[in-house]
Amino acid sequence: MKVIKKNRFTKARGGSSKLLVLSCAKCGNEIVNYQKDGIGTLLRLYLDRIRGPRELLNSIESVHEKSTMPNLVCDHCSALIGVPMIYEVENRLAFRLIRGSFSKKTL
Ligand SMILES: [Zn+2]
Repeated sequence: MKVIKKNRFTKARGGSSKLLVLSCAKCGNEIVNYQKDGIGTLLRLYLDRIRGPRELLNSIESVHEKSTMPNLVCDHCSALIGVPMIYEVENRLAFRLIRGSFSKKTL
């Protein structure tokens, strides 16, 4: 699970990556394992960098457009963590993170 994916998007962000775990700020439930490329504030989660959990991967694996993307919610307390967006520059689907809705730690 700890294998880092590298491709042109990684390179575009300086080549460094780290694995993060995001938890719900309300209840502490773990929401998502995520590979962040490059440095800077975590504003969005690209679907192709989400590493787990399995249920979340299952719910997004068949998603290819914003209109069929679900919101990212805590499966424990239903808090809203992220909403669907397209990062136009790269035409990549992502969740725009709701500020203050999560805490994160580096693996
Ligand atoms: Zn929660």
